[in-house]
Amino acid sequence: MQFIDLHRQYEQFQDMMRQRIDNVLQHKQFIQGPEVSELERRLAAYTGRRYVKSCASGTDALTISLMALGVKQGDAVFVPSFTFFASAESIVLAGGTPVFVDCREDSFNMSPDSLQEAITGIKKAGGLKPKGIIAVDLFGQPAEYGRICAIARENSLFVLEDGAQGFGGAIGAQKACSFGDISTTSFYPAKPLGCYGDGGAIFTDSEELAEVIDSIRNHGQGQNKYDNIRIGLNSRLDTIQAAVLLVKLDFFERELALRAQAAQGYTEQLKDLIEVPVVLDGYSSSWAQYTLKAKSFDERKRILQALNQNGIPTAVFYPTPIHNTAAFKDHAILPQSLAVTEDISKKVFSLPMHPYLSEDEIRRICSIIRASIDSKN
Ligand SMILES: *Cc1c(COP(=O)(O)O)cnc(C)c1O
Repeated sequence: MQFIDLHRQYEQFQDMMRQRIDNVLQHKQFIQGPEVSELERRLAAYTGRRYVKSCASGTDALTISLMALGVKQGDAVFVPSFTFFASAESIVLAGGTPVFVDCREDSFNMSPDSLQEAITGIKKAGGLKPKGIIAVDLFGQPAEYGRICAIARENSLFVLEDGAQGFGGAIGAQKACSFGDISTTSFYPAKPLGCYGDGGAIFTDSEELAEVIDSIRNHGQGQNKYDNIRIGLNSRLDTIQAAVLLVKLDFFERELALRAQAAQGYTEQLKDLIEVPVVLDGYSSSWAQYTLKAKSFDERKRILQALNQNGIPTAVFYPTPIHNTAAFKDHAILPQSLAVTEDISKKVFSLPMHPYLSEDEIRRICSIIRASIDSKN
């Protein structure tokens, strides 16, 4: 069994994929080819954003966005600690300072209460200037943008949505990657919409930001290629990857429904045994991950052992909160306790999740979990 089965997915559209890639091999516009602008138009239509700029990775998407938003030395950017490293790494790359925020016990997304506390703490301490917020759509569920954007407005902060896992999710009818001033996503192969290499995209409704983002991803380009008006990056989405994504996008809604079906299957069979994922009222998840919370570190260890002994791949996202990583631990700034983050990082684990999981596979995984919990009680 695969944790994310890209082979079964490929079988669905093999011929179309080869055709699309072959087209690129024929026209040979490998950089900024027609597939890239076609994809950007499709992504704008899908999310409802006015401007979409593709780039080389989800990490670059974050870094470019922070550069476009003018983050500089001395600026504090508030970010959850319970997320993938890049959410905070990008802040440092852009020249700012991450300030770590705790998460909610149920959805694992940024806690607006903890965010408020962190902003107050930084203002009181002096030194750093509060500049913006990166909220993460963890495991596929959008963060609470209603409350987060209200806090941002009160404090004149920008909001950057890290939708690397959230693309395809929504709050009501509003799609992920349309919240805040700028949103970003990743097309890393294991993400809900993944390409066959690295890739990312940046979404905004601001024409001004879109222009700056476009310039930054092309070496700070001005009027033309040799007119460099700012420091930028070489960060473009390859045409071949855009072609891959155009094929996958045609299957994406169907795959989202299949992911939701798999998640529902897990939840029905596991909800009496263990804490299953909580999706807030009115929210929908892209189910980038299906993540359970064990009662203790030991229970998690026992369940993971049982699954692995039976050939079921598992993963722990994330065993080390970012503020405890070697890269940050000596100088991480956290104005308040990150008690929930510390706790859940010892208890959560994720099950295989992709659109082509069979009911039999789900049943088998759930019965192994049931046996490993029962054997202890
Ligand atoms: C994967 C991921 C990223 C980084 O994306 P890459 O394309 O791998 O650079 C950033 N943030 C989150 C939350 C992610 O899951």
